[in-house]
Amino acid sequence: MNETTPPPAAAPALAAHWTCPFCPLLCDDLQPDAATLGLPDSACPRARDGLSALAGAPASGARVDGRAADLDDALAAAAARLAAVRQPLMAGLGGDVAAARAAFRLAAAVGAICDAVGGDALVQGLRVQQDRGGFNLTLAEVRERADLVVFVGSWPEGRAPRLIERFTAGRDQGPAMVALGAVPMAEGVESVLPVAALADSLTMLSALVAGRRLERPNPELQVLAERLRAAHYAVLVWEPAQLGPHGGLLIEMIQRIVVTLNQSTRAAGFPLAGANGAATANQAFTWLGGLPLRSRIGHHAIEHQPQRYGAARLVAEGETDLLLWANPFPGVVPIDTPLPRIVLAAPDAAATLGDESNTIFIPVATPGVHHRGHLFRTDGVVLMPLFALREDGLPPLAEVLGRLAEAMEGGA
Ligand code: SF4
Repeated sequence: MNETTPPPAAAPALAAHWTCPFCPLLCDDLQPDAATLGLPDSACPRARDGLSALAGAPASGARVDGRAADLDDALAAAAARLAAVRQPLMAGLGGDVAAARAAFRLAAAVGAICDAVGGDALVQGLRVQQDRGGFNLTLAEVRERADLVVFVGSWPEGRAPRLIERFTAGRDQGPAMVALGAVPMAEGVESVLPVAALADSLTMLSALVAGRRLERPNPELQVLAERLRAAHYAVLVWEPAQLGPHGGLLIEMIQRIVVTLNQSTRAAGFPLAGANGAATANQAFTWLGGLPLRSRIGHHAIEHQPQRYGAARLVAEGETDLLLWANPFPGVVPIDTPLPRIVLAAPDAAATLGDESNTIFIPVATPGVHHRGHLFRTDGVVLMPLFALREDGLPPLAEVLGRLAEAMEGGA
């Protein structure tokens, strides 16, 4: 920024509260400087990174096939391309509630298949929920009740740096903590079989928790099973995105352990998921259409195909003829494809687009930094309000999607 460039305008009336939108915990106890988007060095590193990615002036305006365009022209070009294709795919979906609602409206107007950002991980948990149900609890319940927390398969600190702090805030004595099949990066957390195959460990742990006699039980798992059975309220934490392509099976095993424990004590699961607005988009699509993402929003019916409607697969197999990518958070990289693309994303996505000869790029504002909104927290039952720190002159994703929907409805 040079001396003649005015600093971005702060929104003083909105600066009294802040909810951090950069991971699914949505912490609401930090307060960045509205002018610089700075946080103290000691604050959450992920929040600081997210804010610093948005601290400068937007690096790029709208572009059509690599050439600068104003917003109206870019929207007109996007509407023309949407009107010319047979099967559009809306992927990367995530954003605040208003953006998700607008995405649903646009999808209905053009008959789009819709997938979340991180859709592969989302569908793992979703399938288990659909097939077997689940027994999960909220962040506040973990903090109030848990006396044993087991992190299964991954150590979540890099993706949700304050998770342990959120689990223990205000408690004189926090819960005992164990990492199963993961290397813990915090003091006081015990490690159980950090490199063993998780499927094997969970199978044996499940049998031991159920009280089955095994010929050669692993002694570490035997101790863990006894601790789980003795706990007043055990919580098993997992990250679907870190469990690999067969994560659904692992989540099923985790839930089976939870169900078994509940026959004699209390236990519940805590999935850490839904970052970058994926959980919010999924919730909004579910209440608007009755089915979650990985659905085709047809004019007369909604078709839910969790395996078939994965965005990467649809693109790779040529089952779509246009990709509309819609996600307003920094650091989210759109799918690379020679297909016609309409990319509605945070300004930093411009640097990741590669060949733009068939790409319309419209930078959008980030909810919780540049405008107000709402996001669902990882526990799925708490809708957190987002506040604006300052405006960046870019339109919210909801506005862009809404204008496209209007154009497509008018042209239908
Ligand atoms: S833990 Fe997540 S929500 Fe909390 S401050 Fe860090 S990035 Fe933001």
